Amino acid sequence: MKRLILFLLPLWLLAEAHIFVLHRVDDFRYPTTDISSKFLEKDIKYLLSHNYKIVKLSTLVKRIENNESVDKYVVFNIDDSFKSFYKNGLPVFKKYHVPFTLFVYVESADKHYGDFMNWKQIKDVSKYGELGVHSYSHPHLAKLSDKQIIEDTQKAINSFKKHLGYVPDMYAYPYGEYDKRVKKIINNYFKIICNQNSGAVDKNTPINDLDRIAITGNVNIAKKLKIGVLNVENFLVKKNKNTIEEIRGNVKHPYVHIYITNLGWKKIKTNNGYFDYKPDFRLKTYRNRVIIRYNNKIKTKLILKEE
Ligand SMILES: [Zn+2]
Repeated sequence: MKRLILFLLPLWLLAEAHIFVLHRVDDFRYPTTDISSKFLEKDIKYLLSHNYKIVKLSTLVKRIENNESVDKYVVFNIDDSFKSFYKNGLPVFKKYHVPFTLFVYVESADKHYGDFMNWKQIKDVSKYGELGVHSYSHPHLAKLSDKQIIEDTQKAINSFKKHLGYVPDMYAYPYGEYDKRVKKIINNYFKIICNQNSGAVDKNTPINDLDRIAITGNVNIAKKLKIGVLNVENFLVKKNKNTIEEIRGNVKHPYVHIYITNLGWKKIKTNNGYFDYKPDFRLKTYRNRVIIRYNNKIKTKLILKEE
């Protein structure tokens, strides 16, 4: 029996897809959002030689919707439509005939911001990949009123219609920032929505809340591919006046590690799969993450500090 479980385990661990997100390519002025084209090429070569299937986001989503295996599927997202991607990243994707999904920061194209692609370049890019919407003005959505979020979204939609004649059904939150209210509004306009919580994707992942793993610098993609989905039922982060009072949920594991931004990791034993952690931690920064981890499997929740 034990041997059988050990034999099945690796297969089960691999039943996940990964969405990687990158921003700038060979723009060494911004090391925290940049990847070098050399490393990007190395990563793509690694994936192809290890039988990963690199597909567009819409292809991955179709497989999730059809309840098909997403094992060894990989998607590249590019956020912000930087000119450095057009110049240094696109040639790598073209060289290996690998598709991608580019999320356009619409205002930057409309207003010809220096570091960003114009509509002609975006149209060119769309021949090799597909496009999604990354808002109009790249705002902190959670800080806007409902009306402002709708206005920003409508502007992005109108500009897409005007310049390309269609509107994608994919959206990536600027800064990966969202809450329940933001998600509800954006979901009225887009079917496929990406956040920026580190995590993998499996057949049960909701397509309007897709985790993505950022890749920058000399990333070890083999290590990132080991990240799996942790199933947490009844996952709750109880926050009161910017203090995290309690984190609880159910998992099928004897313990979990719990991370909070600016506090770090803590190992919590479960009781019949139930974990309950009362950190009583006051949030320090605007954007915070709570991560539940068991071995390589993780589940992340974004917690925004109220200002
Ligand atoms: Zn962005």
